[in-house]
Amino acid sequence: MIDLKSMTLQEITDLMKSMGEPTFRGKQVFTWLHKGVRSFDEMTNLSKSLRDKLNDACFITVPQVARKQVSKLDGTIKYLWELADGNCIETVLMQYHHGNTVCISSQVGCRMGCAFCASTIAGKVRDLTPSEMLDQVLFTQLDSGLQISNIVLMGIGEPMDNLNTVLKFLELVNHPDGLNIGMRHISLSTCGVIPGIQRLADLGLQLTLSVSLHAPDSETRSRIMPVNRAYDVETLFDACHEYFRKTGRRISFEYAVIDGVNDHDWQADLIAKKLRGMPGHVNLIPLNDVVESPFKPSKRIAAFQKRLESHGVTATIRRSLGGDIDASCGQLRRKAMEDAKKGANAQ
Ligand code: SAH
Repeated sequence: MIDLKSMTLQEITDLMKSMGEPTFRGKQVFTWLHKGVRSFDEMTNLSKSLRDKLNDACFITVPQVARKQVSKLDGTIKYLWELADGNCIETVLMQYHHGNTVCISSQVGCRMGCAFCASTIAGKVRDLTPSEMLDQVLFTQLDSGLQISNIVLMGIGEPMDNLNTVLKFLELVNHPDGLNIGMRHISLSTCGVIPGIQRLADLGLQLTLSVSLHAPDSETRSRIMPVNRAYDVETLFDACHEYFRKTGRRISFEYAVIDGVNDHDWQADLIAKKLRGMPGHVNLIPLNDVVESPFKPSKRIAAFQKRLESHGVTATIRRSLGGDIDASCGQLRRKAMEDAKKGANAQ
C-alpha cells in the first residue's frame, strides 16, 4: 500500500500517469491531501472508478486525538495523536502575537539520551513518515480552527536523526499547492548532530537553525548530553560558524539553565568567546522539572543573561506557555504511557 500523503506533487503526478490518468490529476489529488481529507471519496472532482483504484492501491494517514489539553492561562493546546500503528506523538499549538506556531515531533521517542529530557526516557520507537509530520500541522489546524503560520521542529525526536524524512516534509509543507508555509517561518532544532548541520548548510534553506547547546564546555555537555561524546562541542561550534558562513543565517542557541550545572558565569563567558564572529542568539529556557530527572531549574537565569549581554551576546529568556498542561516535550506522552502501564497492572 502506498502512503500517498508522503509523496511530492511530482511523485503523485507520475503515479497518476502510470494509472493512465492525465497530468493535472496529480495536482488535484495533492491539493485534496493537503486539505486534510480523510478518504478518497472526499475527492469529489475525481471519478468514482479512480477513487476506487486509489483506495485499492493507497492509503491516507489520519491521526486520532488520543488526548487534548487546553491551557487556561494562555490558550496553548497540546495534542497527543494516536498514529495508525497505535504509537502516540505530541504536538503543541502556541498562540503568539506574531502568529500561531505549531511545535511538531519528528520521531516516536528519541535515542539521544539528554539527561534532562522527558522525550528520551523510553528511547526511540521509530521514525515518523513525511505524512505523519505533515498531519500534525494539518490536523492541528483543522481541529483547533486556528490558522498556523509558523512551525518549529522542537517536539519529540531528533530531526537530524530522521533528516531525509524531515527534508521531504519541508518540501511538502512549503509547497504552494499545499499549506504554503515559508521556510523563514520554520525552525529546526538539533541537539548537535554535525553531519546534519553540514547537510543543511549545503542546502542553504532559509529556515532557522536552533542548536541545543546547554553547555559550552565538553565536560559539562558530555555529562548532560551523550551526543557530545560523538560530536564534541568544539567541533559543534566550528560547524555553526561554517553554517553561518554558508547560509548567512543567524543561529539560535537553546540553553536550558540548570541549577549548579551550566549556570556559572565562566560558562557565559565561554559562550561569548565561542560565538565571536557570528551573530548568535541565546535563548535561555527555564528548565522544565521532569519528575524522573535529578536536575533543577537555575535560580540565576537573569544574572546569566546579564553576563552574556555584557559580552554583547543577545540573550532572551523564553516565556513559558502552557504551564498548566504538561506542555513541554515528551511529558504528555510519558504520562499516557505511565497511565497505560498502571491500567494494564490493575487488570
Ligand atoms: N532533539 C531536538 C529537538 C527536540 S527538544 C533538540 O535536541 O534540539 C526541544 C528543546 O527542548 C531542546 O532544546 C531540548 O534540549 C529542550 N528540552 C528538553 N527537555 C527540557 C527540559 N526539561 N527543560 C527545558 N528544555 C528542555
